[in-house]
Amino acid sequence: MATTFNYDVVIVGAGPAGMCAGMYTGRSMLKSVVLERGFPGGELLNTELIEDYPGFEHILGHELAQKFSDHAIKFGAEFKTGVVVECVRRRDDGSFETRADNGDVYQSPAVIVTAGGTPIKLGIPGEAEYAGKGVSYCAICDGAFFRDQVIAVVGGGDAAVEEADFLTRYGSKVVLIHRRGELRASKILQQRLFANPKIEVIWNTIVDEVKADGQGLVNKLLLRNIDTNATSELDAQAMFVFIGFRPNTGIIEGHIDHDEMGYLRTDANMQTSVRGLFAAGDVRAQLTRQVTTAVGDATTAAIAAEKYLKALHDGDATEPIVGTGGYAV
Ligand SMILES: Cc1cc2nc3c(=O)[nH]c(=O)nc-3n(C[C@H](O)[C@H](O)[C@H](O)COP(=O)(O)OP(=O)(O)OC[C@H]3O[C@@H](n4cnc5c(N)ncnc54)[C@H](O)[C@@H]3O)c2cc1C
Repeated sequence: MATTFNYDVVIVGAGPAGMCAGMYTGRSMLKSVVLERGFPGGELLNTELIEDYPGFEHILGHELAQKFSDHAIKFGAEFKTGVVVECVRRRDDGSFETRADNGDVYQSPAVIVTAGGTPIKLGIPGEAEYAGKGVSYCAICDGAFFRDQVIAVVGGGDAAVEEADFLTRYGSKVVLIHRRGELRASKILQQRLFANPKIEVIWNTIVDEVKADGQGLVNKLLLRNIDTNATSELDAQAMFVFIGFRPNTGIIEGHIDHDEMGYLRTDANMQTSVRGLFAAGDVRAQLTRQVTTAVGDATTAAIAAEKYLKALHDGDATEPIVGTGGYAV
């Protein structure tokens, strides 16, 4: 039977941002819940090794996820499993109703959306199988694992071209594979790409399949020219795919400010254009998306939500949230 629950803060998604927000709201003694459709961890669970989280020279993604969730639970965060299907603002009192797929409703005056995003996949054989073993969607995260090796990059937009350029720091050669005869990326990025002697471009071509060696590590891509249908093989130890990233914002109704890619715009306190609705981590419009930025956003969002609740309680929630520079409200 569907149940209605009341919380101070509902957090949607238990990736690094959601778990960190839960840790802070728990520590602030707010009644809060983190709703997660799968296992807590978010993209950390799809990441083999993390080498750029301060304090850990290297740590497995799932180990860091476990540490985050243990820490949040220790400070009183409550985790529940459920797919959030919508989050709507009530017209009468301005509070939010967050609905899970089993019909349960979570009522709260504040919501923090930390639902992350999803890299768009090619959907070809070997892609999912060798993710983390040569197939990647994050150059800054995984590029360093392919020093002096051949790195393939798939895509033709800004992200693909910029990341191909970035990956030449590591790879002996970077091969950009693009299904069209021209790039969509901005001219300045294209100039940089064509001037880089370590980059080769293969035009009008798609990847049909990813192959691996006996140890399950990527070693070959099967290519097909879409004009001639001619097939070929590329020896490469990595395939980075940059054909788009979709923020998981489908649960939010109506008009909320977002950028052209659909990422939620916030102010410096992580508040969206809807008062009481905060966003943190990969779902938010920002320069870069990393674990460090996700937890930084989440810290701000949780503390701003706490201040918002206090302002609501004191009857002055129309006032801007003013930071104190410290932890306490
Ligand atoms: C392959 C890869 C490797 C990476 N490597 C690194 C690295 O080495 N270092 C680094 O700093 N960063 C790395 N990143 C980036 C980093 O993982 C992300 O920036 C970080 O996980 C963002 O955290 P988040 O909590 O905002 O989102 P996510 O980690 O995406 O978490 C969002 C969570 O929300 C849940 N969710 C979404 N929709 C719903 C819903 N409707 N109902 C319930 N739950 C929902 C999801 O299941 C997920 O658990 C990597 C990313 C990828 C893809």
